[in-house]
Formats: sequence, structure tokens, C-alpha cells
Amino acid sequence: MAIRNIREIGDPILEKECKPVKEMTPRIRELIEDMLDTMYEANGVGLAAPQVGILKRIVVIDVTGEDPYVLINPEIIETDGEQTGPEGCLSVPGKSGIVTRPNHVKAKALDVNMHPYEIEGEELLARAICHELDHLDGKLYVDKVEGELQDVMPVQEDEEE
Ligand code: ZN
Repeated sequence: MAIRNIREIGDPILEKECKPVKEMTPRIRELIEDMLDTMYEANGVGLAAPQVGILKRIVVIDVTGEDPYVLINPEIIETDGEQTGPEGCLSVPGKSGIVTRPNHVKAKALDVNMHPYEIEGEELLARAICHELDHLDGKLYVDKVEGELQDVMPVQEDEEE
């Protein structure tokens, strides 16, 4: 387990399409452990593999601090409603911006054992799912911000409501 370096906006790796995971390997298992450690260390609620420089379709999310989800090859299968609120990203430190997302999201993914499951969430969890899955397609929230990016105190630079 280790903390990995988080890539920041301007790094071309954050704009690339990620490749699906075909099979679980010790290396990918280690990557996932490191992603969780790195997310918690940075006080984030989500982290996508390209943010630590790996172009694989892997996301970790934990909006409560005690309920981590690992999403491998995730796909959104249902969205509903709308929420508009502040969003941030560990790859865009010290900033936040207003983004409109679905209020309810259902996604399918594989877990660490490559077993399919569905994850369903509202509000912050729905927002985190959309935000992290965008990373896998090389998209950053800054392109969806309504108005201007705002400066935030460093302690608030995670993806919070
Ligand atoms: Zn992000």
C-alpha cells in the first residue's frame, strides 16, 4: 500500500481515454489499494486511475469515509433528476465550481473480484459517480462549470457538496 502522486490539470494523461480491465492481477489489486489510500490521504470522495497516471477504467469512491466502492469498467445505466452544486477535483487543487449533474444515478461495474454489481446513489454519491466516470473518458469537471471556477481553502479541495 502506498500513496501515489496525483496528476494535476494540464497533465495530458488526464485527457486520455482509459482502457477496460480484462482480468484482475496482483498489480491491479495493488493499484486499487493505493488508489484508496491516496484518496483518503487527500480527503477526496473519489479517485480515478488516470489521476494517478494509469489509463485503466478503475474508479474508487467513498462519500462517507467508511463505505468504499471499487468500480471496474463502470457504466452508467440510468440517471434521473438534476442537482446543481459545487464540485471539486483532486486534480484541480484549490478550486471549485458549480456543475449540474443528475440527482440519481445507477451504474454497473465489476468489483475487485471481477464480479458484476450495480451501484445506485443520489446527491453526492450520484455526483461522484458521474465525476469519476468522466475521468475515464478524459473529461474534467472544469469544462462543465457554470460561471467561473472559485478559489477554495486547501482543506476543502475535495469533491464535496
Ligand atoms: Zn476529479
